[in-house]
Amino acid sequence: MADSGDANIKVVVRCRPLNSRELARGAKPLIQPGSEQATSSGGRAAERKTMAFSFDKSYWSAGDRNDPGYCSQQTLYDDLGKELLDHGFSGFNACILAYGQTGSGKSYSMMGYGADKGIIPLTCSELFVRTQEKEERDSNLKFTVEVSYIEIYNEKVRDLLNPKNKGNLKVREHPRLVMSYPCGSGCVLTDISLGPYVEDLSRLVVSSYEDMMTLMDEGNKARTVAATNMNETSSRSHAVFTLLLTMKRHDPETNLDTEKVSRINLVDLAGSERANSTGATGQRLKEGANINKSLTTLGKVISALALASQSDGKVLTWLLKDSLGGNSKTAMIAAISPADYDETLSTLRYADQAK
Ligand code: ADP
Repeated sequence: MADSGDANIKVVVRCRPLNSRELARGAKPLIQPGSEQATSSGGRAAERKTMAFSFDKSYWSAGDRNDPGYCSQQTLYDDLGKELLDHGFSGFNACILAYGQTGSGKSYSMMGYGADKGIIPLTCSELFVRTQEKEERDSNLKFTVEVSYIEIYNEKVRDLLNPKNKGNLKVREHPRLVMSYPCGSGCVLTDISLGPYVEDLSRLVVSSYEDMMTLMDEGNKARTVAATNMNETSSRSHAVFTLLLTMKRHDPETNLDTEKVSRINLVDLAGSERANSTGATGQRLKEGANINKSLTTLGKVISALALASQSDGKVLTWLLKDSLGGNSKTAMIAAISPADYDETLSTLRYADQAK
């Protein structure tokens, strides 16, 4: 459990408990948390060997909720969400992604279910607590929170907050702006890249946590969910929930206004299972191929970023590029099932690459 502290990229693993189906067939956990690492031990006789992986942190949600080692939704938010929110309030971008096979706990970690709120609602709730506190302390400060919610399905972008807009929204990039403005005896050159954006995407201003949750629920309902043989609710699309935080401050002494804008991308990735393992054919196979391509690209991008390198052109990574790398902070949650050898191993390998 090597905590990388302030590192700009964190990769953590979260293992869900055995589900009722697994318990009914007498499945045993194939993965154990180590004090220093998460360990995957082989399930198939031919490959029965123990492998060790280490990540920034490994979280374990099996057993009793009151056990000291149990990772609750709040633990995950405290460890990952809080830091990214701090970063957002400092004017920088941040991104949290959940990766893993269908049924491994991505939506549970990101959205949560019922009262078990995930990192997105917990972050949104804290966001409004903080903006209110800061505005009360400083009457010259004003925050605006905007949200957008998209789905990337088969490399096509759909606006989940405006389902009437069924089209394939175009992904574009703002031109770079080089501005010069006078300062003292000289002038300052500022090179601003406003980054990638989705044309005609709704960006809705929200003023409370409740409004935000209502929008998110609407977006979730609109999300394309296609059944596969793996799981009826198998999600074949990436969902990107974006919070845009604008902080404006008027300085009464100098009469100058300053503005900081930051973007927090919260991403529930499509199921990582390989297309052929879900019995897919035709259209489903094509979806699977696209999902795999963008996930591979993302893995490469994250590992490239870990080496302070470049980004890539696939829609997902393109859209996330201003919240990956540079001054941004990124956290990837690799969600795993305790009872599935192949998929768990493939997720651990992918997450290992992304470190
Ligand atoms: P995914 O989004 O990866 O397809 P889900 O998040 O829907 O998977 O999780 C599948 C099931 O497992 C859900 O019923 C969810 O409530 C449960 N689950 C996932 N992770 C956890 C966890 N950490 N603790 C308790 N239940 C979990």
